[in-house]
Amino acid sequence: ESRVGAAVESEALRTLNRVFGYESFRGDQGAVIEHVVAGGDAVVLMPTGAGKSLCYQIPAIVRPGTGVVVSPLIALMQDQVDALRALGVRAGFINSTQDFDERRTVEAELLAGELDLLYLAPERLRVEATLDLLSRAKISVFAIDEAHCVAQWGHDFRPDYLALSMLGERWPDVPRIALTATATRVTHREITDRLVMPKARHFEASFDRPNIQYRIVPKNDPKKQLLTFLKDEHDGDAGIVYCLSRASVDKTAQYLSDNGVAAVPYHAGLDAGTRARHQSRFLREDGLVVVATIAFGMGIDKPDVRFVAHLDLPKSVEGYYQETGRAGRDGLPSTAWMAYGLQDVVQQRKMIQGGEGDEAFRRRAASHLDSMLALCETAECRRAQLLGYFGQEATAANCGNCDTCLNPPETWDGTVAAQKVLSTVVRLERERRQKFGAGQIIDILLGRKTAKVIQFDHDALSVFGIGEELSEAQWRGVVRQLLAQGLLAVEGEYGTLVLTETSGEVLGRQREVRLRSEPAKPERAPRARA
Ligand code: ADP
Ligand code: ZN
Repeated sequence: ESRVGAAVESEALRTLNRVFGYESFRGDQGAVIEHVVAGGDAVVLMPTGAGKSLCYQIPAIVRPGTGVVVSPLIALMQDQVDALRALGVRAGFINSTQDFDERRTVEAELLAGELDLLYLAPERLRVEATLDLLSRAKISVFAIDEAHCVAQWGHDFRPDYLALSMLGERWPDVPRIALTATATRVTHREITDRLVMPKARHFEASFDRPNIQYRIVPKNDPKKQLLTFLKDEHDGDAGIVYCLSRASVDKTAQYLSDNGVAAVPYHAGLDAGTRARHQSRFLREDGLVVVATIAFGMGIDKPDVRFVAHLDLPKSVEGYYQETGRAGRDGLPSTAWMAYGLQDVVQQRKMIQGGEGDEAFRRRAASHLDSMLALCETAECRRAQLLGYFGQEATAANCGNCDTCLNPPETWDGTVAAQKVLSTVVRLERERRQKFGAGQIIDILLGRKTAKVIQFDHDALSVFGIGEELSEAQWRGVVRQLLAQGLLAVEGEYGTLVLTETSGEVLGRQREVRLRSEPAKPERAPRARA
C-alpha cells in the first residue's frame, strides 16, 4: 500500500514538475490527487485560487484514458483548453459554441484515445448521444466542477447537475471528484447525497488566512486615506489597489505617483503592451503598487504582495475574499484594507436595478451585495463573518487580527435616528415629481437652509432641523446602515431614497435598529434615546 502510494505520488509529482512547471503541491492537492489516481471518489472544498484544477487535471493525465470535466462555465472552456494545450496536454471541449465539424473532430480524438481531458457542459450529459459517445471511450476520471450547483436551495442551482447522479451507476469503476469553492456544511452534504458519492473522501481546506489583517474603514477622502495607510504601514511594499472604474484607476495611480509612491495603472482600457509591461514590472520589481480594476490578478502568483486595498466595494464576498487573498501568499503579515461609504451602497444598489439580466439575476446580485454589506457593517469579528459565509467556523470568537477585534466598535440604539430618516423620506415621497437623495435628507435633518432646501420649501417641513444631535458624517453612517440593512432602498438614476417593506416596522416602533458608531470623532456622542 505504501509502495503503491509512493509510486502514485511520485508520478503525480513528476507530472506537476514536468507538465505544469511547479515544484510542490499546495495544501491538500497532493493527498487529493493520490486518492483519485488510486481510484477513489473525492469531494473537495477549496477556496478560489487554491488550485482545484490540478486536483483533477493530474489524475486525468496520470490515469489511462480521458478525464471528463463537467463545468457550467462554457465561456472559460476555450481558454482552459488553450492553456492546457500550450503545456502539451491533449485537451478538448464539447459545448454549444461549436459547429458540427469542430465537435466531430473532438469526438474522433476522444474515441481514438487521443485526449487527456474533455470539458463538457452539464446539459450535454442529459443527451443520450453524449452518454453513448462516452461509453465507447475510455474514461479515467469524472470531475464535477462548481459542484455546489447541485444544491437545490443554493444561489447557483443548475437542474442539469441533478442528472449527474447517474455517472456512478453507469461508470461504477471510474473515480469521481466533485469540487467547489462555495459550500456551507449543508451544501457539502447535499453534494454528496445528490451526486450519490457515499464512499467519497472529503477534503476541506480552511478558508482562513491568519496572516491577513482585515480592516474596513469609513470612506471620507479615499485617495488621501489610502495614501496615509500606505505611508504609515506599507511604505515601499508591493500591493494591489482595486477601484471599480477605469477612470478612478487612472486618477488614483496618478495621485499616488505624484505623492511619491511607485504606482502603475492596470485595466482593460490600456493597450495590451502597456498591460503586459505593468504586470511584469509588478512581478519582477520590489515594492511596486498596481492600481487596477478586478481584471487584474487572475492567475497572478506573487508571494510577497503585502497589502490589497479596496477603494470601492466589491460586488460579493467571494470577490472580496478572492481579491484580498492575493495578499500574503508567503504567509507573512499582510493587510486587506478597504474604504467603504454611503455612496458605495447607493451606487451598487443602483447598478443592480438598472443593470442587465433577468429578475433572478438581479435577485442573486442583490443577495451577494447584502452579504458583502453585512461584512462591512458587522460589529463582530470580520474573519468569523468571512469564514461563516463559506460555511466554516472560526477557531476563536476574537481573532485578534481584524479591526473589529483589535478595536471593538460601539453599537447604539439607532431606532429614533432611523425613524427621523424614514419620516423625512416619507415626507419627500409625497412630492411625487421630485426625487431626492441622501444629501437633501441630511440637509433637512440638520436644518440647513441650502438653496435646494429653500427652493422646495423643505425648511417648512416638520422634520426640518430635528436631527441636530448628530453630525453629517454620523447621519451618512445612519443612512448607509439603513440601506445595508434593507430598511431603506434606492431607486432610479439619481439614487432617490425610498421606503422598503420593512421600513414600516421601524416607523411603527415594532422594530429596534442597532447601529454601529462611526469611528470618526463624533461631534457629540450619539444619544441612546432622543
Ligand atoms: P481554483 O480553481 O481553485 O480557483 P486554479 O486551479 O485556477 O484555482 O489555480 C490557481 C492558480 O494557482 C493557477 O495559476 C495555478 O496554476 C496555480 N497553482 C495551482 N497549484 C499550484 C502549485 N502546486 N504550485 C504553484 N502554483 C499552483
Ligand atoms: Zn477578528
